[in-house]
Amino acid sequence: GLPRGGWKRVLLKVSGEAFAGAEPLGIDPAVVQHIAKAIAEAVSEGTQVAVVCGGGNMFRGAQLAERGMDRGRSDYMGMLGTVINCLALQDFCEKLGLDTRVQTAITMGQVAEPYIPRRAIRHLEKGRVVIFGAGLGQPFFSTDTCAAQRALEIGAQAVLKGTQVDGVYDADPRKNPDAVKFDRLDYGEVLQRGLKVMDATAISLCMDNNLPIVVFDLMGQGNIIRAVRGEKIGTLVSP
Ligand code: UDP
Repeated sequence: GLPRGGWKRVLLKVSGEAFAGAEPLGIDPAVVQHIAKAIAEAVSEGTQVAVVCGGGNMFRGAQLAERGMDRGRSDYMGMLGTVINCLALQDFCEKLGLDTRVQTAITMGQVAEPYIPRRAIRHLEKGRVVIFGAGLGQPFFSTDTCAAQRALEIGAQAVLKGTQVDGVYDADPRKNPDAVKFDRLDYGEVLQRGLKVMDATAISLCMDNNLPIVVFDLMGQGNIIRAVRGEKIGTLVSP
């Protein structure tokens, strides 16, 4: 269940789609600013915040592969795209005075530290925001699976998945007005019903390790901080 007084260490997953916001291409600064402000508020309340950035606003490997590209190579393009989002978020966080580190699963020393879990934990303990880029560094995985894996490895208490909808529904609420929102689900229900929370690999990883997932509308005013505080918001997927 949800802790009173909020989570101590969280992993915030921001989808690439969110970064795009209202822009036809690339990154919407207003979105990045919104996320950075919420992170700053969370850090000021004493919560340790790590972030995994998605990259769907740049490239999705599977989509490029459908159009004839090699899947492995197109997945690497996807991973590199996530790093662009990370650097944007780092910039907005630093403008707000936050100490921030980007760690990438594909080494690129000029722009980021390599992913070193123990160092990431030290950063968090010092109140720094750690932003993970390049997914897991491996094709055929998603940044959602990366979010679950990183959360587990750094000992985060929950994955907070910010999306474009305000929770998990039994049908697509944008197409079906009768769609019903779930307040709570367990992992088995998500997998059995094929609900669009995260991909099956990510859900399985959370299930096997009892890691809670909070799915919520990233852009709603005050939503990120409510999720960080462990308030009731969106849909909670937990044991
Ligand atoms: N990707 C990958 N391995 C990973 C994470 C991501 O190959 O561990 C690639 C994959 O091609 C994916 C793309 O990076 O489509 C962007 O990530 P994702 O689709 O998860 O981003 P989001 O849906 O959150 O925007």
